[in-house]
Amino acid sequence: MPPRLTVVGSVNLDLVAGVEHLPRAGETVSGVAFERVPGGKGANQAVAAARLGAEVVFHGAVGVDGFAAEALAGLREAGVEIHVERVGQTGVALILVDRSGENQIVVVPGANAAVESARAGGNVLCQLEIPLETVEAEASAAAFFCLNAAPARGLPPDLLERVDLLVVNRYELEALEHEPRGLVALTLGAEGAVLLEGGEEVARAAPPAVEAVDGTAAGDAFTACLVVSLLERRPREEALRRACAAGALAASRFGAQPSLPTAAEIDAILAR
Ligand code: ADP
Repeated sequence: MPPRLTVVGSVNLDLVAGVEHLPRAGETVSGVAFERVPGGKGANQAVAAARLGAEVVFHGAVGVDGFAAEALAGLREAGVEIHVERVGQTGVALILVDRSGENQIVVVPGANAAVESARAGGNVLCQLEIPLETVEAEASAAAFFCLNAAPARGLPPDLLERVDLLVVNRYELEALEHEPRGLVALTLGAEGAVLLEGGEEVARAAPPAVEAVDGTAAGDAFTACLVVSLLERRPREEALRRACAAGALAASRFGAQPSLPTAAEIDAILAR
């Protein structure tokens, strides 16, 4: 039986320009490529989990506009069960990526700011691109609650206490304001990730070496893979190793959702 996972989160249309170098304030640079790709941390993680073999349900919101269908296309293709309200404008992310894979991102939330709780229950994954009250309601209703605390912000201690698995990078961990006491996966970019419990390191993994071209969805691939691997009852070390490989594969490809790996691709790169 594949694991079942509900993602309550954001869906955006990503407008991605490739540039030689990122512009400084007031500078205009010429782009070398442009793509429109479905994105949003919620949708990315839902698609990632579905590609990894989970049965995924997505709750979110899109606008009453021409971007909505395009923003949902990746979820549809991945076979995710979609529940979306329609309100205002579809969320957009303006993304610049330079030659080294470094990026600059502006997110305009639009409909994502209106996502209400589905009180889904079961295994639930949220991020912080929807209202905090919605995340809190999902945390209360879930049997297993994973929070990818991105983008970085402080969180109320009672929400942190309800999180079974917290996924953060260094900046997101620093922004929390309160020490998380449960299971924490801390991602370290090309260095991989560590798993902490009660502040103590319990596992560490390094990603396979890849040529990084676009780090946009590396964190999303990592988060989804860690959750799915743990729901598949894999040992923690193995789950962390798979999540690092998923992040590395995503970082080695252009775009957000198109870059998310399948379980077979993770098996293949780990067998190298
Ligand atoms: P975020 O984008 O959320 O800050 P990270 O940059 O830490 O997240 O990336 C998440 C995971 O993806 C890392 O733990 C690592 O396993 C993998 N990863 C990211 N960048 C690279 C890279 N340049 N080379 C190999 N793996 C990478």
